[in-house]
Amino acid sequence: MIDTHAHLNFSQFDKDRKEVISECLKNNIAVINVGIDYQSSKEVIGMAEEYEAGIYASIGLHPLDADQGFDSEKYKDLNCDKVVAVGETGLDYWYKPKGKAKRESYKEKQKEIFVKQVALAEELDLPLIIHCRVAFDDAYDILKQKKLKGVLHCFTGSLLDLERFLDLGYFIGVNGIIFKMDLREVIEKTPLNRILLETDCPFLSPPGFDQRNSPLSLKYIGEEVARIKNIALEEVLDKTQNNAKVLFNKL
Ligand SMILES: [Zn+2]
Repeated sequence: MIDTHAHLNFSQFDKDRKEVISECLKNNIAVINVGIDYQSSKEVIGMAEEYEAGIYASIGLHPLDADQGFDSEKYKDLNCDKVVAVGETGLDYWYKPKGKAKRESYKEKQKEIFVKQVALAEELDLPLIIHCRVAFDDAYDILKQKKLKGVLHCFTGSLLDLERFLDLGYFIGVNGIIFKMDLREVIEKTPLNRILLETDCPFLSPPGFDQRNSPLSLKYIGEEVARIKNIALEEVLDKTQNNAKVLFNKL
């Protein structure tokens, strides 16, 4: 199995990070740790470099941290064998500053750093890990002319959004949010060869798992996908693992 979206660098794992990682590797779970800014991008690379295989990194700036500004050259210098993607990047219009002018500049700033990261992914020939929340139209406008690959992590869009991004060739990241939101139709309509499993740990723990999520809960997500699609768990795990290798071809 491959957890295609984790944050094992976060402080929630400060006390037992090494134990959690060795438990993952023992259970044959590879992990992509996703940076959310420059500092955390450096951290996830450092973590990946401690292991010969199984732990990988993605570098990027989260849309909610757009204020930090995105210096492409600095991020480009981080690229190495362990970096398998650019992200998490994207657009998040959920939090709205008060006042029309502020809202507009908030969106413009996010778009500006997203466009820069899209260009970086093109330059480094890496796929994108996209965080998108109530901003699917703008994200689609930015991506539709590009020949890039990527995943919409933690997908929460409409069926129309789904169709448009599937047509563009994107993968759909499925995590514990499926236990909180009704995404049954999304999962039914996404072909199995376009689904990636992820945890987004330490967040979004599935029911029945520890409150602090970890890549060890990945099977719970797979079970729910298997249940909704009415297919065997083995098939879900096999195919989604293969999908991750297709998208993140440095794995
Ligand atoms: Zn995340």
